[in-house]
Amino acid sequence: MEKGPNCRFCKSSLNHTLVDLGMSPLCESFLAAEQLNRMEPFYPLHVYVCERCLLVQLEEYVSPEAIFSEYAYFSSFSDSWLQHAKQYTESMIERFGINKNCFVVELASNDGYLLQYFVREGIPVLGVEPAANVAQSAVEKGVPTLVRFFGEKLASEMKGGGQSADLVIGNNVLAQVPDLNDFVKGMKILLKPGGIITMEFPHVMKLIEENQFDTIYHEHFSYFSLISVEKIFAFHGLRIFDVEELPTHGGSLRIYACHQDDSTRSIGEHVIGLKAREVAGGLTRMDYYSSFGERVKETKRKLLEFLIKAKRDGKSISGYGAPGKGNTLLNYCGIRTDFLDYTVDRNPYKHGRFTPGTHIPIHPVDAIKETRPDYLLILPWNLKDEIMKQMSFIRTWGGQFIVPIPEVRVYR
Ligand SMILES: [Zn+2]
Repeated sequence: MEKGPNCRFCKSSLNHTLVDLGMSPLCESFLAAEQLNRMEPFYPLHVYVCERCLLVQLEEYVSPEAIFSEYAYFSSFSDSWLQHAKQYTESMIERFGINKNCFVVELASNDGYLLQYFVREGIPVLGVEPAANVAQSAVEKGVPTLVRFFGEKLASEMKGGGQSADLVIGNNVLAQVPDLNDFVKGMKILLKPGGIITMEFPHVMKLIEENQFDTIYHEHFSYFSLISVEKIFAFHGLRIFDVEELPTHGGSLRIYACHQDDSTRSIGEHVIGLKAREVAGGLTRMDYYSSFGERVKETKRKLLEFLIKAKRDGKSISGYGAPGKGNTLLNYCGIRTDFLDYTVDRNPYKHGRFTPGTHIPIHPVDAIKETRPDYLLILPWNLKDEIMKQMSFIRTWGGQFIVPIPEVRVYR
């Protein structure tokens, strides 16, 4: 038995490891050229599972203020994510009758990638986004945005000012709040009677089944199953009445929640069905979690084996993308410019900078056409279909794609 930290939800002591990825820098702290010779802070990436409430989690080593106040992630750089946001908006309008008389609040609204679609329908919205640089980009799109962290305090202020939400949205934020109880309590306060919350986050069952260890990073404090998130919501007087399984980020859940006492919504069959599958899959047993670490090590060995052989054969390899998950993979596997000459990204913020820890230069996408690498290692593998389509021209010089997860695979 290990003696770990305490569970962020139920406060029990954490004695079970899911995986220990060693030390890593913050995955979004890209470096400018003049920073390359300075010390870089590295923090542990040690993931635990709570035996009592089943929440899979990473200790909070770094404050959210340090992580999120200036953020390099702009949601609007992914075409498929914009499409996802547009479809979501249409479905919420159709299914729940969200209209001009409603008030929609998105927590961690990023650059307004989603709320812009509600704005186009004339529906009043407010984004809450702590990173000033991305919030600015939302305001330029016509999405009113508050530069704040969300929690009980802000929710009470909003409610005191007469603001209650018919729809509270949170995409890939629930996993990123260190004080989970404060955040969920805040949503309970902000939600109008009869209102709905939808939250999307990666499904920990997919993470484990499909070996997505690179989706673990310091900004990502919690990894939920439906069973664990339901406990947390119930504790705060919220009830999950529906759930969808989405392909985004390698397999996400979208949960639909309402007030516990909302008699107009009953718990749907998808909730009952998925919970049964999680139990049958082993998610309530500790041995399910304890075998993951060894699979992760084997994935690293296989990827390195492939890269070493390619380099010995005289091949050139470039990366595609510089996402957060890429940095966990690169640091854990020790992949630096000895394997990847450079990587590219569509986000101009990252051009001329270097990946944290591994110091791989990040260029505009056009660099691929200029240097014609033999292999392109796709770091945001969740977007591999979109990327292989956009980059299909590499085949004209015999270039091939490498997808590292769930295990190394080459696409001609
Ligand atoms: Zn717990």
